[in-house]
Amino acid sequence: MNDNQLYELCKKYGRNALESRRKFIGLLPEVLRRRLYEKKRFSSIYEFAAKLAGVSHEQVDLALRLEKKFENKPVLRKALIEGEISINKLTRVAAIATEQNQKELFERTKTFSNRAIETFVRDVKNKNEDASSKPLFEAKSMHVHALKLDEDVENALVEMQEKGIDINEFLRNVLQKRKDEIEKLKEKIVAEQQAGKTTRYFQVKIKKLIRQEHGTKCSYPNCTKPAKALHHTQRFALINIHDPHFIAPLCEAHHEIAHKIDVQYAEISRRH
Ligand SMILES: [Zn+2]
Ligand SMILES: [Zn+2]
Repeated sequence: MNDNQLYELCKKYGRNALESRRKFIGLLPEVLRRRLYEKKRFSSIYEFAAKLAGVSHEQVDLALRLEKKFENKPVLRKALIEGEISINKLTRVAAIATEQNQKELFERTKTFSNRAIETFVRDVKNKNEDASSKPLFEAKSMHVHALKLDEDVENALVEMQEKGIDINEFLRNVLQKRKDEIEKLKEKIVAEQQAGKTTRYFQVKIKKLIRQEHGTKCSYPNCTKPAKALHHTQRFALINIHDPHFIAPLCEAHHEIAHKIDVQYAEISRRH
C-alpha cells in the first residue's frame, strides 16, 4: 500500500466513523424518552453514550438541549435525529434558527464548513441587531481603534480648527477626492481592457488598485479578517473583462459563503 492508498483508506474510514457517530447521537433523545439505558442496566444516559460510542457527557447534553430547542423547527430536528448534520454545526445555527428560516439554515449548514457557519451566524446576528429597535449604546461612539495620527498631522489639524476652518468639511473633501481618484482608475482599467490594451502587468495593476481602495482586510461590512481572495462579484458578466468595480477582497470564510450563496457581495451593496 502506498501513501496515497493509505490516506484514502483513512479518509474513508474516518468519514464512516463520523457519520455513525452523528447517527448515534441523533438517537439519544429517543433513548432518554424510553429510558432505554435503565432497561439495559446503565446507570445513566451518559454511561450509555460513553460505553457504547465514546460520546462525552457534554455532547450528550448538547444533543438533548438541541432537540428541545428544535421542537418547533422540524427540519432542523430531523437533521439532528437522523444524524445528517453534526451537533457542533447545529449548535451554531441554533442561535439564529426560527420557524421561518429553518429550511434555509438547513441548506446552508449542509454545505458550509464550520468556519463559514460561524461567520454566517455572526453576520445574521449583526443584521438582526441593526434592524431591531434602538441599541443600548450608539455603535458610532464605540470605536475600538482610535485614530492614530502622527503629531505633525494632529498639530496641523488642530491649528486649522483654531483658525476657524471646518476640518470635518476639509477631511470630507479629501475623502471624496480619494473616492473619485479610485473611481477614475477603475474606469481607466475597464476602458483599457475594452480597447484590448492589456499588458502582462494588468493583474498587478488591478491588485494594486483594489488594495488602495480596500486596504488589507475583508471588504464584507464589519469583518476585520485579512483578505485572502479577490472575488468576482459578477459571476455571469456578459463581457469577459476584469472589471475592478466587481472585484472584492474577501476573507476565507466570506469567500466560501460568497461562492455558496448566490448573492452579489459586499462591493455592490456598498456602492449603492
Ligand atoms: Zn471567488
Ligand atoms: Zn470576511
